[in-house]
Amino acid sequence: MAEPMQGEKGEFRSGFATVVGRPNVGKSTLVNALTGHKVSIVSDKPQTTRNRIHGVYTSPGLQIIFVDTPGIHRPRNLLGDYMVEVARKSLTEVEVVLWVVDGSVLPAGGEQHIAGFLSGLSVPVILVINKEDLIPAEILPGRIEVYRGLYPFSHVQTVSALNGTGLKELMDAIGQFLPPGPQYYPADMVTDQPQAFVLAEIIREKAITLTRDEVPYGIAVGIEEITKRSEELIYVRATLYTERESQKGIIIGHKGQMLKAIGQLARQDMEAWLGVRVYLDLRVKTKKEWRQDQVALRQLGYD
Ligand code: GDP
Ligand code: MG
Repeated sequence: MAEPMQGEKGEFRSGFATVVGRPNVGKSTLVNALTGHKVSIVSDKPQTTRNRIHGVYTSPGLQIIFVDTPGIHRPRNLLGDYMVEVARKSLTEVEVVLWVVDGSVLPAGGEQHIAGFLSGLSVPVILVINKEDLIPAEILPGRIEVYRGLYPFSHVQTVSALNGTGLKELMDAIGQFLPPGPQYYPADMVTDQPQAFVLAEIIREKAITLTRDEVPYGIAVGIEEITKRSEELIYVRATLYTERESQKGIIIGHKGQMLKAIGQLARQDMEAWLGVRVYLDLRVKTKKEWRQDQVALRQLGYD
């Protein structure tokens, strides 16, 4: 078991905290809650996060770079291979790992798979039992014990990423594992993702949220143009890609209603993020079976 580090008083501490776990347990919600900003998109569908996302938290004397990752699962296509590889690579050269689980359900095969993934790591692993708000108080102690048995954790914390319980305690625990180190990013920086990536993710989140069945998994977004039209207006041209021609019709919707709804919601979030008005020019195209196509994956930034 790794010992918490003892820094000198007044020393700046910093480091990387990678967040791993099964799809849909609340990793991205947790990173957003801990950083206080929406750096990573969230939905009720598994496998929403496809890339490694950095969310930066800075306070006097401390900087934590949270690394949000795609959920660890058994991949069924090239995109899945890529996503799991992102999660695996994010485990190296970090100071601490946060393994997030959904405490409202019992551990299953997915957890055993992740325990295997983590075995042999020398970094401290903190167990974060999320969705505390959904766990009846009388079963909580037993639930904690079951999860604790999965791995030689350095620390265990129950939280609700949704309503904020346990987050302060979790932050303190993470701080204990960070060594003295530099401030990697400016204090006002919340993510290092490029602007085009953030905007594409906003569109993808709205499209995933408003669609169902197989459609969300086959959605990708490309940003073709970002132009400052004036001090108050930014023009964004983007394309939503679907895997099949039939899905294109679903995304466009009856009389274009679906595409309009996606565009409206995305524009509102973009305006909140950029602090200026946005003109969003959004269209839809089919990129046949792109999740199985190495070239298409690269074009869409999954490489
Ligand atoms: P990820 O795939 O692990 O990144 O999970 P997300 O952050 O995308 O969240 C998956 C779903 O779980 C979303 O519908 C969230 O709103 C929900 N969720 C996340 N944290 C909590 C929580 O603490 N309590 C409850 N009730 N729901 C949560
Ligand atoms: Mg996620």
